[in-house]
This record gives sequence, structure tokens and C-alpha cells, in this order.
Amino acid sequence: MNIVVLVKQIPDPAGPQELNADHTLKREGKLILDESDSYGVEIALQLRESAGGGDVTLVSMAPNGETSGLRTALAMGADDAILVGDDALPGAAALTTAKVLAGAIGRKQYDLVIGAVESSDGYVGVVPAMIAELLGLPSLTFAKKIDIDGSVIRIERQTEAGYDEVEGALPALVSVTAGVVEPRYPSFKGIMAAKKKPLEQVTVADLGVSVPGFNGNEEVTSVEDAPARAAGEKIEDDGTAFERIVAFLDEQKVL
Ligand SMILES: Cc1cc2nc3c(=O)[nH]c(=O)nc-3n(C[C@H](O)[C@H](O)[C@H](O)COP(=O)(O)OP(=O)(O)OC[C@H]3O[C@@H](n4cnc5c(N)ncnc54)[C@H](O)[C@@H]3O)c2cc1C
Repeated sequence: MNIVVLVKQIPDPAGPQELNADHTLKREGKLILDESDSYGVEIALQLRESAGGGDVTLVSMAPNGETSGLRTALAMGADDAILVGDDALPGAAALTTAKVLAGAIGRKQYDLVIGAVESSDGYVGVVPAMIAELLGLPSLTFAKKIDIDGSVIRIERQTEAGYDEVEGALPALVSVTAGVVEPRYPSFKGIMAAKKKPLEQVTVADLGVSVPGFNGNEEVTSVEDAPARAAGEKIEDDGTAFERIVAFLDEQKVL
């Protein structure tokens, strides 16, 4: 069972998020494994174990030859990685990102591609489905549980009401929801081994993919701070506070 996992490397969300003058997110310095993708890596390792073998390959598009997030996922147990970096990619929109990642995935023999439902920085939530379309794969999205039975894949797709059972034929692409599994922590042995694991760095020309360049198919014209959250209503409980709370919940149409 050969699996390709999409791994986004992002500025540490715990740190200050800054924008460049062109309104793109500052991505200088160390980037970390997006927590959203740590679930995909863990699921891939578990599926490989239950299949009795195969390769887990990571694919990432990131600037400045950044590999820290990839090394973390290699230390968890993935086998190898492909990093796409190119001066033509800063400010890339989701479709461009999908085309580049599809080009990198095309270099591997795979049975399954796994991505997260959405990233933690751009969270446009469309890249995996776009990749499936570009590669002509069935896409099974919002998976909270994945089962493989021969060449058939079955997922439980998260819904507001519970979940749907969705089935497809391999090769396929799956996007996973956060929290579906407990990602393993890289062991010291894993961290040391990750330093020697193959990590191929390629450009868009190497992939034979054409990209529109900065602001090619979308442009951020202005950015403003989100409005500060209004302070909530304070209720002093004189024994009737519950009535006000019930009325408030009723007003919010959540009862
Ligand atoms: C604040 C902000 C707003 C943006 N708004 C838009 C917009 O409106 N329209 C638009 O087209 N672009 C937008 N972008 C750009 C967009 O974020 C990038 O194109 C990005 O590379 C892909 O989008 P995403 O991470 O939001 O994708 P999502 O679709 O949220 O990503 C889902 C999953 O795809 C995989 N994935 C995504 N990017 C990569 C990567 N670089 N390497 C490996 N795997 C990856 C990961 O598994 C990720 O969890 C925005 C970026 C930011 C920071």
C-alpha cells in the first residue's frame, strides 16, 4: 500500500502572523508541520501497518527550501519526501498550489493520496478536491474513519448530523478531518533516522507544470483587521438569570 500524504509547512500559529507589503503571509524563517496534516501522516502510517507494508511519501510546496515540517513527519515514520520550491510560487492561489502538488504526486506510484480538509493558515479548504480532479481520482472528503478492503476504500464522512458512509475504488484521494487519530510523537530514534531519509527538492520546471506567477489568477487588494469581538452581556443572577439565558438562547435560535 503506497500512500502519498500532503504536508503543508506553515508559520508557527503560536507566533505572530505577519503580512508582507503585498498582503501575502510572511513565510520567512522556520516553518512547522501543519497540525492539520499530522493526522493524515498518522493515518497513512496506520494504513501501511495494517496493509503489511508499502511506502509513505510526503509532498510539500514551501519557500526557501524549508524542510523542518517534512523532517518532523519523516521522524514520525514516513519513508521519503518531495519538496517543491520555486521563485514563481510566492502568493500562489489554491488552484496553482493544487497543480504543483498534483505534478509532484505524479512522480510516485501510489494507491492513496491523503490531505487535510483545510490548512491552518490559508484554510481555503479546496486544494485536495482540486488535486483529485487534476489527477482524475475519486475524492472522498471529510473522512473521520478510513477502511481499505482490497481495492475498495470506505470512509465515514463527517456531517453535521453524524456521518455518511462513502465508498470508492483505489487509487483515490481522501481528505481527513482533524482529531480522527492521535498522531504519534517522533521518537529520538525516529528524529535521527529522519535526517538520512530521502528528501527530493524540485522546481515547477522539473514537474513540467506551468504556473501563472504572482497575482496570476488572484490578487489580494487590501487587508484589514477583523472587527474586535463585542463584549458579551453580563447577567447578575438574582435567581431569575436562567430566564434571561433561556430567552437569549431562544433569540439565537439554538433551542
Ligand atoms: C489568509 C489567506 C487567505 C487566502 N485566501 C485565498 C483565496 O481566497 N483563494 C485562493 O485561491 N487562495 C487563497 N490563499 C492562498 C492559499 O492559501 C494558497 O494557495 C495555499 O497554498 C493553498 O491554500 P490553503 O492552504 O488555504 O489550502 P486548503 O485547501 O485549506 O488546504 C487543504 C490541505 O491541502 C494540503 N495543502 C495545501 N497547501 C499545501 C502546500 N503548500 N503543500 C502541501 N500540502 C498543501 C494540506 O493537506 C492542507 O491541509 C490565501 C492564503 C492566506 C494565507
